This record gives sequence, C-alpha cells and structure tokens, in this order.
Amino acid sequence: MEPYDIIIIGGGVVGCMTARTLSRYNLRILLIDKEADIGMGASSANSAIVHAGYDPLPGTLKAKLNVAANPLWDALAGELNFAFERRGDYVVAVGPGELARLDKLLEQGRTNGVPGMHYITADEMREREPNINPDTSGALWAPTGGICDPFAVTIAAAENAIQNGVTIKLDTAFTGFIQEGKKITGIYTTRGDFACRWVVNAAGLYADDIMHAAGVRPEFQITARRGEYAILDRDEITIHNVLFPVPSDISKGILVTATLHGNTLVGPNAENLPEKEDHSVSPGGMTEIWGGAKRLIPDLQPKHTIAVFAGLRACGNAACETPGVKYDHDFVIEIPKEVSGLVNLGGIESPGLTAAPAIALRVVELLQDAGEKLVEKPDFQPIRPPRPIFRHLTHEEQAALIRVDPRYGRVVCRCEMVTEGEIIAEIRGPIPATTYDAIKRRTWLGTGRCLGGFDMPRVVDILSRELKIPPTAVTKKGPGSEFLIRSTKDVEVADAH
Ligand SMILES: Cc1cc2nc3c(=O)[nH]c(=O)nc-3n(C[C@H](O)[C@H](O)[C@H](O)COP(=O)(O)OP(=O)(O)OC[C@H]3O[C@@H](n4cnc5c(N)ncnc54)[C@H](O)[C@@H]3O)c2cc1C
Repeated sequence: MEPYDIIIIGGGVVGCMTARTLSRYNLRILLIDKEADIGMGASSANSAIVHAGYDPLPGTLKAKLNVAANPLWDALAGELNFAFERRGDYVVAVGPGELARLDKLLEQGRTNGVPGMHYITADEMREREPNINPDTSGALWAPTGGICDPFAVTIAAAENAIQNGVTIKLDTAFTGFIQEGKKITGIYTTRGDFACRWVVNAAGLYADDIMHAAGVRPEFQITARRGEYAILDRDEITIHNVLFPVPSDISKGILVTATLHGNTLVGPNAENLPEKEDHSVSPGGMTEIWGGAKRLIPDLQPKHTIAVFAGLRACGNAACETPGVKYDHDFVIEIPKEVSGLVNLGGIESPGLTAAPAIALRVVELLQDAGEKLVEKPDFQPIRPPRPIFRHLTHEEQAALIRVDPRYGRVVCRCEMVTEGEIIAEIRGPIPATTYDAIKRRTWLGTGRCLGGFDMPRVVDILSRELKIPPTAVTKKGPGSEFLIRSTKDVEVADAH
C-alpha cells in the first residue's frame, strides 16, 4: 500500500485544525481517533473561550501561540462557517482588595502583545452586566476575547480537511510505532497497520504515552485535571458577557460566561485526578463552582441548572524552554531529536482551543525546518459549506426549505427546534453522525429543558432507519452505551414473572 505522508493521531481541535492546515499542501494525510466521533475529548468539554492572551506567563509557548492565534479566528470562522463572537472579556475585582491585583494581569497582557486592554470602573461594569456583584470595585477589559462552540469549530476544521483530501478513520486507536531503527515508518492501530513518513502526536491526555512509545521524553507525564461545569436554563437568567474572577496562582478561577447558545455556563474548578477517564461530576465540585459563580453574580441559583459536565485538561509537566522563564506546564511542540518522523503536540491544556490555529501553523514551520518541501495545491478549497440550521432561518427561508425537503418540517427536538431534515443531514454528513451524542453535538438537539426526554426515542428510531441497524444497536456514544436492551415483543413468559 502507498504510504501516507502524514498520520495525525487525535481528532480533537488540535488534530483537526492541523489536518485542515496541512491539507493545503500536496500531502497524503490520515487522521485517526480512538472514539466513535471526532472531538470527544477536551475539545468538546471546556469553557469555549477564545482567550485574549493576558493570562499565560510571558515567554511561554502558551503566551506566544495564544496571542498569535487570537486574530486568526475571524477569518477562520468566515471560511469554515462556524459561529464566533468577539465579545471581549472581563476580569472582575470584587471588594477593594482585589483591584490592585489586576495590575499584574494588565502588565502581563501588554508584555504578551494583547491589544486594547484597559480598566473600566465599577459603575461601567454594573452598566455592562446589570447582574454583577454590587460590591465590584472595577474590572480589566480585554476586547479581543471571544466565544465559540468548540465542537462546531472542531468538526468544521475536520470537514474542510476531508474536502481537501484528508482521510479520517474513527474507532481506530494507535497501539504502537513501526520503526526502522530510529526512523518511524508507520503505526499499528486497532484497525490495521498504516505506513507513513511523519506522525503528528495530537492525542490530548494520551500524548505522553505516545511519546513514550517512541522512546521520547520518558519524564513527561500528563495528569488529567478535571474542570466541572453547570449549564443554566436560558429562560431563568441571561448573562451577556465573559466574566472571570481575579485569578489565583494555579488557575484562572471560576468564571460565569454567556454561551453562543444563549445559556449561561459556570465553572470550572481544577482538580488533579489519579486516572484519565473520569468524566463524572462531584458534589464537592458543584459546591466549589457555585461558590465561585455567586461571588461574581449573586443572583445565580443552582436550581437553574439544566445540565452538568466535566472536562479533563491534559496538564503536562514540561518546563518552558525560553531561557530565564520558570514555568513547568508549558505546551510541548517539537520534532524530537531521538527519533525521526515524529511531531509532538503535548500538554495542550488551556489555552489550547484558542491556540489551535497557531499550533497548526507551527507544525507547518517545523516540517519545513526539517526539510519537508511543502507544495501548495492549486485547488485547495478553504470554504466549508454550512448546512441549514432551521431555527436560525426566517419564516420564508424555512418554508422554502420544507418545500424542497418536507423532513425539515418535522420538529424532533421542541426545546431547541431541531428538525428531522437536520438530523438526516448530519447522519449523511462528511463525518457521519452515528450516535445520539454525535447528533446532539452537531445540532444542539437534546440540550434544552427536557434534556432529550422528547427527542431521544425519535432520534433512536431515525438512526436505526438511516443506519439500517436494529434500535437495540443504536448507542449514546459508541459500543457499550446502547439505549435499549431488547425488543419488548421478545420478552418471554418466564421473564414476565
Ligand atoms: C475544563 C477545561 C476548560 C478549558 N477551557 C478552555 C477555554 O476556554 N479556552 C481555550 O482556549 N482552551 C480551553 N481548554 C483547553 C482546550 O479544551 C484544550 O487545550 C483543547 O481542546 C485540546 O485539544 P486536543 O485536540 O489537544 O485534545 P483532545 O480534544 O482531548 O483530543 C485528543 C484526541 O486524541 C484521541 N486519542 C487519544 N489517544 C488516542 C489513541 N491512542 N489513538 C487514537 N486517538 C487517540 C482522543 O480520543 C481525542 O479525541 C479547556 C480545557 C478544559 C478541560
């Protein structure tokens, strides 16, 4: 078989953005992910903020790539057709003692090259966010902060990569390297072996294991640092801004933020876990995030919660390589010397979502520095066409769509107004949605007050029909998460007693 030029391990925002960026060049590219869908790791469970770049320590890769990436987001959103709002963000001081601590952040932001930051008074803050704690003493305003839907960004990048010739294989886990001496010539996976000249390690929480499999950076360890969140009912309270507290030494703190979907999000806390697959939320975590959230917005109420979730940060232990900067959790973005054919993207915790477009460009530079002659394709297509989102259309547009395809006239999710037409478009999309959660992430179905109570049986039915599988084989998020145990008609008399 003809080898791939590049195999990317990991279909999170970093892997997908890298695939899309490299798809501009004449390269055969394969992206693999171990899960049933792309973006099932940190890239779909985070605060969804495109950071301005004042938070990372000057001199770190986090600071450089955050500030380099932030201005790229407007053009990317236009080309890839995902929603992005540059609302700016606030670091809010509460009480007289915190105000002076904003000076360090302002200075750090200016050193990092963040444009437009300035202080606003307590009165201005109260005007911009009427629900803010009345004891606020002022805030630092960064106009270049933004919000996005991180899964929408990830899938848009992946779909555009496919348009430009990238192959994506899901349910395909990396299990080892094929090597000729120190040269990597391919990978072993759970779905066969693939030859390649380069491997890009974008495996999130498992990037350390992949480095170790290549005999690289044995001291590098990734710890899963959990962040828990609550999503609030948009009919109960509306927050208009991205509001951070004054940060501590280890964390940006618990924020309260508007989301693109109109809900308010509160969280995250920061807790190191002993293992890497615990996505549960804890009573202690909820108490902690509510304490933080109510300090910013006292009127927020836990009873307004409609969903909770946790994301896991891939917290690495790599020292910053800039001389004189003492920092132990920097990104690792390198071609290691110990082997040839490997690009490591490790320890990509926050601001990894923001930085992803700049990380991808850095991969291009690293490959060129290593002697790779990258030739641009004359037919590279930067535009990823959008699919209709029924609730965003005017009545006239909706009627026109229904005339062409009556399935857009059947509303499956009432809370979020998602139609059968949209669900089928995703099942037949460039990366087919084959599970309930894959449809939920793409359409926002099942995220309203009833949390899927109404739509779930109908989605199971549609998935079963479209995928030509029995309803009992339809899953929430892949094998082992089936909704139904058996058909009731199959219940035997003995079972009934
Ligand atoms: C609580 C929290 C809040 C955050 N908030 C923000 C924020 O507001 N703004 C911001 O900029 N950043 C934020 N981040 C950071 C951001 O989410 C991450 O930096 C980013 O999503 C990392 O993307 P990734 O592609 O490296 O990792 P992931 O999204 O985790 O993707 C890695 C992929 O690799 C796959 N994989 C792993 N092992 C294998 C294997 N053996 N074979 C095949 N595939 C494999 C996984 O299935 C996964 O899909 C936050 C993170 C968390 C957890």
